[in-house]
Amino acid sequence: MLFKDLSEAFEELEKVSSQTEMIKILADIFKQADEDEIDKICYYTLGETAASYKKVTLGMAEKIVQQSISLASNLDIDVIKDETNNLGDLGEVAFTIIENNDNRFKTFFDIENGLTIQDIDNGLNKITMSSGSGSAEVKQKILAAMLSIASPIERKYLVRLITRTMEFGVGEATVLNALASAFLGSKKEKPKLEAAYNLCSDIGLIAHVLDKERLTGIKKINITLHIPMKPMLAQRVSKFSEIKQKINSSLIAVEEKYDGERIEAHKDGQTVTLFSRRLTDVTTQYPDIVENVKRYIKTEQAILDGEAVAYNVKEDVFYPFQKLMQRRRKYNVEEYMKNIPVKYMLFDVIYRDGQSLMKKSYPERRKNLEEIVEKNNLINVANRRLTDNLDEVDEFFQECLNNNLEGVVCKSCSPRSYYQAGARKYYWIKWKKDYASELRDTLDLVVIGAYSGRGRRRNTYGSLLCTAYNPEKDAFQTVCKLGTGFSDPELENLPQKFRQFLINSKPARAEVLKTVEPTYYFTPKIVVEVLGAELTKSPIHTCAQDETGKGISLRFPRFIRWRPEKSPEDATTTTEILNMYTEQ
Ligand code: ATP
Repeated sequence: MLFKDLSEAFEELEKVSSQTEMIKILADIFKQADEDEIDKICYYTLGETAASYKKVTLGMAEKIVQQSISLASNLDIDVIKDETNNLGDLGEVAFTIIENNDNRFKTFFDIENGLTIQDIDNGLNKITMSSGSGSAEVKQKILAAMLSIASPIERKYLVRLITRTMEFGVGEATVLNALASAFLGSKKEKPKLEAAYNLCSDIGLIAHVLDKERLTGIKKINITLHIPMKPMLAQRVSKFSEIKQKINSSLIAVEEKYDGERIEAHKDGQTVTLFSRRLTDVTTQYPDIVENVKRYIKTEQAILDGEAVAYNVKEDVFYPFQKLMQRRRKYNVEEYMKNIPVKYMLFDVIYRDGQSLMKKSYPERRKNLEEIVEKNNLINVANRRLTDNLDEVDEFFQECLNNNLEGVVCKSCSPRSYYQAGARKYYWIKWKKDYASELRDTLDLVVIGAYSGRGRRRNTYGSLLCTAYNPEKDAFQTVCKLGTGFSDPELENLPQKFRQFLINSKPARAEVLKTVEPTYYFTPKIVVEVLGAELTKSPIHTCAQDETGKGISLRFPRFIRWRPEKSPEDATTTTEILNMYTEQ
């Protein structure tokens, strides 16, 4: 196909704004294209020169392009600069002012009937390949040669392509719609193309295979080492209880949710490539992850999914995302690598030794992951808890918050819990601290126990076991575990504060089920004011148990303050809590 024909289609595209019209124009072009040029047509339409994950650098700054226009037009560079200021777009400059076509550069291209798509591709490749000293001049001349052969409209789009200013309002979705409509008769078939695109991240490849083999070829597209695949995404729910309704399996794997950068690692022997969430190659940014994947992933080939998190090795704690962002740099990578170590927390494996694991369930993939990771403090597998009980999800969530994590990702253990590239479905549900809305009223609860802390909290308590008072039975019945909302000094001081109340066994008046037994018991003395998000039925707490044995618990409890003026018997009663629950 001639580049002129494509440029004319681009001109038409520029005039329309409706998606339907755009799809029609593109589909017409796709139908006319050869299978060997259709890939380039897709890239050019999107303003790219190759698949977006490939690191193609043309190295054509505005100045170089202006020099090329100057060479091709025989006009002084100052004229070109003035025209750039007047017209505001180098494409328009190339369109308007290159008139004297004296073919000085004809030897660069052997063109008879006008530039073809292939000629443009060859020219762009030459520009990309020229590097080192003197390359700017070579690049200038190659573009000048192309411009002097091209017609005005071709010049306009060629320059826009090179300066990355092609803007038709056409995105990947429109191109996929147009491909579906050109080759499969309707844009309704787009999801099939999209699924393949999510695996190979190369729209040109999709177009080429579709043109050549239609859907038979598309179905064969699979994940490939060193080619990024779109990551699976997590859904959100508005109410905590929806997690259970939506997740599609009774067993839930609740994983820690890390606040770092999503990294997809491809390992093939000693070659490791890393891709970001946006599928850019970030291998050079994380030489430490590369090294650790090589060393501690005990399999020849693997594609792994996980989160890179800034990490304090000495204290064994994660830093927030902002810290990791300092690692996003081209220079001084080694220095920053030492200052800000990164721990790679893996949560999935999608490919292992020549075999795709995408169609395996989450439990099977997790088993594979456990088998291949040699765990240590620089690379590890996401901590998780398996449960069929929302209270335990809540409890694990609280623990995560206590350990400075963002929240949890709940993962379905259903046999159909495949790895779905690019999809946001309820097989993964995220639950973060800011999702929890609050109750209008606070509760005053009596502390009867504590759990020992881990990680950052290893020298203090992880959480406190809190109870409401039941005056009829004169008993303290459990409502929640409280671990968030404390200031750092408050937190540190907890063991000291409770030391005088430590006892060896459960206080006589306390009703505690085995599943929530704390590490330490205290005489019920201290009252604490707590705010929570919602009251729910719970099989693990004893507050206001109904005839089926279910009690009421407080979700997402947060410390507000101590209530030294209140005696334990002044605490919120179980009946009050029952009333609050029914009024909610
Ligand atoms: P999304 O990725 O869902 O579009 P987002 O970029 O705003 O949303 P979040 O809403 O914070 O991110 O949550 C999803 C992200 O959490 C994932 O993309 C991943 O990077 C990260 N994450 C951390 N821990 C896990 C985990 N255990 N399982 C899956 N994802 C995790």
